[in-house]
Amino acid sequence: MDTPGSHSTQAADSIFIRSIYDEVLANAEAHENLRVLCKSIGHRLSGSPQLDAAIEWGHTLLAAYGADSVYRQSVMVPHWIRGNREIGRVYLDGSDEPLSITALGGSVGTEGELRAPLVEVRYLEDLDSIGRNAIEDRIVLFNRPMDPLLINTGAAYGGAFDQRSDGASRAAMYGAKGVLVRSLTHALDTFPHTGAMRYRDSIPRIPAAGISTVHASMLHNALKEHPELEVGMELSCEAFPDREQANVIAEIRGSEFPDEYIVIGGHLDSWDIGEGAHDDGAGIVQSIEVLRTLLALGYRPRHTIRIVLFVNEENGNNGGETYAAIAKEKGEVHYAAIESDAGGFSPRGFSMEADDVVYEAFRSWLPYLQPYGVHVARRGWSGVDIRPLKDDYVSLFGLMPDNQRYFDYHHSARDVWENVNKRELELGAASIAALVYLLDQQKP
Ligand SMILES: [Zn+2]
Repeated sequence: MDTPGSHSTQAADSIFIRSIYDEVLANAEAHENLRVLCKSIGHRLSGSPQLDAAIEWGHTLLAAYGADSVYRQSVMVPHWIRGNREIGRVYLDGSDEPLSITALGGSVGTEGELRAPLVEVRYLEDLDSIGRNAIEDRIVLFNRPMDPLLINTGAAYGGAFDQRSDGASRAAMYGAKGVLVRSLTHALDTFPHTGAMRYRDSIPRIPAAGISTVHASMLHNALKEHPELEVGMELSCEAFPDREQANVIAEIRGSEFPDEYIVIGGHLDSWDIGEGAHDDGAGIVQSIEVLRTLLALGYRPRHTIRIVLFVNEENGNNGGETYAAIAKEKGEVHYAAIESDAGGFSPRGFSMEADDVVYEAFRSWLPYLQPYGVHVARRGWSGVDIRPLKDDYVSLFGLMPDNQRYFDYHHSARDVWENVNKRELELGAASIAALVYLLDQQKP
């Protein structure tokens, strides 16, 4: 078979892209690799021994697939441990009922049970209008659902995210004792979702937990009849000194432009409930699958292809920041970067942060991808890990899978391997490989 060279033609490109999908759909190892990552290693929070094991696993796997080089890049990461006590209760009419809660990442723990009357708000600004008297010495429930009218669930997530990230400090400014945050999901179930929060400097640090949507709605209804009800929360989480971990980087050297890089990546760390299967084990095994596939097809890229397994996306982004800082320090030319961090669902298109020339070039490539269900070109957000690379020269792309079910799993105990569909995962990997091929052959 002719390996396409720099003078690619439309027909040759279509044929090669077909061979990428054929190779992935017939021989992919992504789903099995994800099973090992999720079942043998498990969840992989920054600082954890599981993330150490995942770094080792990724390094070994990339080397076994025949990358030209594989190495690690040291990254300092936070080390926060959930502990094993997460108990929520509502006290009503002399009895109590359990509430499904889980500490938000970075929260301080409680000393024993923190029990206090509850006050509910929807927006952070509601705190300003109800004032200190209504908040002081209480637990605040932030209970604004993700907007169901937004078709893009990522946008709905972004619109509700402030409650989780900033709710604790905002409530603490008015003397609150703790906060419960409605889980960021459209699903109505009893699984609480975690995620990063941060404390503002010089404001008291109060405990913060996610609460399941079913229990958040139940409290909303109960407060109407029993405005005096109390809730209890007990969290055993704790922060420790930062630890050294590492991004894992593998390369296939470019034949014509070895000093120009196309990066493909996802994040190896995950939250510590569930298995980080969709978020972002999927992006990790897809990135590795791109390397396996290109090598299996005997493809020699013109530009250097770099697979990056980033660490610490979830609670700091120190992996992405470190990678970009070192790239800039070395004066490395990053031509393009592609991230998969939106779940292992059927691919629909790519989002991009790129100039008009690249955007139009990508649109002109859609006929190559449409036979595989990839038809969307959207300007906008690419990915957390690759974002620090952003400058005038690099084009950033994010794989856009169907996003309707992603937040059912995201950051919850439901984000497990069994909930990732093998075929959808593989189609995503093949679509990234196809984009890598087009970028490599037809540099806009
Ligand atoms: Zn993620």
